[in-house]
Amino acid sequence: MAELPLIVILGRPNVGKSTLFNRILGSRRALVGNEPGMTRDRIEGIAEWRGARFKVVDTGGIVPEDRDTIASEIFRHARMAIEKAAHLILVVDGRDGVLPLDQELCNLLRRTGKPLSLAVNKIDVLKHAPLAAEFARLGVRDTFTVSAEHGLGVDQLLDHVTAGFESAGESVAGPEGPVKIAIIGRPNVGKSTLLNRLAGEERSIVTPIAGTTRDAVDVEVEHDGGKYVFIDTAGIRRKGKTKLLAEKLSVIQARKHLEQADVALFVLDAEQGVTALDTHIAGYAHESHRSVILVVNKWDAMPKGPTAKSDFTAEVRRRMKFLDYAPIVFISALKGYRLGNLWQLIAEVSAARNLRVPTSQMNAFLKRIDLNRVPTTGGRPLRIYYLTQAMTSPPTFIAFTNRAGKLHFSTERFLENRIREQFGFAGSPIVIKSRPRR
Ligand code: GDP
Repeated sequence: MAELPLIVILGRPNVGKSTLFNRILGSRRALVGNEPGMTRDRIEGIAEWRGARFKVVDTGGIVPEDRDTIASEIFRHARMAIEKAAHLILVVDGRDGVLPLDQELCNLLRRTGKPLSLAVNKIDVLKHAPLAAEFARLGVRDTFTVSAEHGLGVDQLLDHVTAGFESAGESVAGPEGPVKIAIIGRPNVGKSTLLNRLAGEERSIVTPIAGTTRDAVDVEVEHDGGKYVFIDTAGIRRKGKTKLLAEKLSVIQARKHLEQADVALFVLDAEQGVTALDTHIAGYAHESHRSVILVVNKWDAMPKGPTAKSDFTAEVRRRMKFLDYAPIVFISALKGYRLGNLWQLIAEVSAARNLRVPTSQMNAFLKRIDLNRVPTTGGRPLRIYYLTQAMTSPPTFIAFTNRAGKLHFSTERFLENRIREQFGFAGSPIVIKSRPRR
């Protein structure tokens, strides 16, 4: 296989290089870190944008921290990466204005003759936008204002940077390496007990992954030929000292773990029902665009009745409407009931996340659906000329239509439901974007 094109992210300290790096990688984080001189463990990864696959390097991890305040040092340490780069992204801090270090670095990078884009970062709200104007001084034609933290403008930057990259075609993309699983939920729902079950009963290889700290012990497990990593298992076991602290910690950990995961096991306590804290965490789970499985634990402690499961399911669906794509499984971590069902769901959900529907199939499907059932806004009936799956993890579709702007909510819903009926995507959120056809 030909080598993937490489994008190199550069800039002085604290401009947001690693935030941008993580943003570009999303959940597809890969671990390479064994080159000498690296200060961080995750500096290189493989990402995908609208079908094009590429490598990204965050040079913040290459340059020793005490030496990254001199442009020539940053340049020297990143030189190997720069030489191999297909595109350079220089990141600057939009709120700091142009600093001499930015200017010097920019000059050095320009001299390489490599395609160079400037990302003016930390432009989080519209009112910051004027700050970016100052950077015109650097004279980089391809300048983009972004907020790496909030994901704003990153689409446009990536569209530009990857424009010349070859699309991976329409092959069904396999998952890369093990599926990363987060176990989240409020205190005492049984997260640790579940972890012990899932990681303990299988022949698990407990590998503190090189370079990670003691706190971040990932546990690798094989099940039925599938490879899984439970991330930050130490974090799952960590408890707060008081109830309030424990609750706060559970939210912080849920957010952190979601960010690193492909699939989240969101554990609920059957005895307690759905609490406000559960719905709060559920909100983050949904927003994270990760795949979610709702795990109702302690089912052993519940009085059995013919409608017990359907009643509980109805309650979950009512309180967590937005997670309607997440399958529900009833288990007992303590007694080990129904763990087989959970494993099966984990396998299904991870496969669904990486499913890629070829455009030809997508368009055959489009011909069959009845868009006349969609309410028209502004008179003109909506036409979708074609529909394509631009990305996996999460599955993201682009509809090329006869109008500008976002699709109406109900149209999005309609398309999403039809796509799920046809193709599944269990446990995964579906993102639908629209573009006016040129
Ligand atoms: P965590 O804070 O979410 O990690 O919760 P733990 O795993 O520490 O569990 C909290 C308590 O719930 C412990 O006393 C467990 O023994 C108990 N527990 C966990 N799973 C089950 C279960 O399936 N059934 C019952 N009855 N109790 C459970």
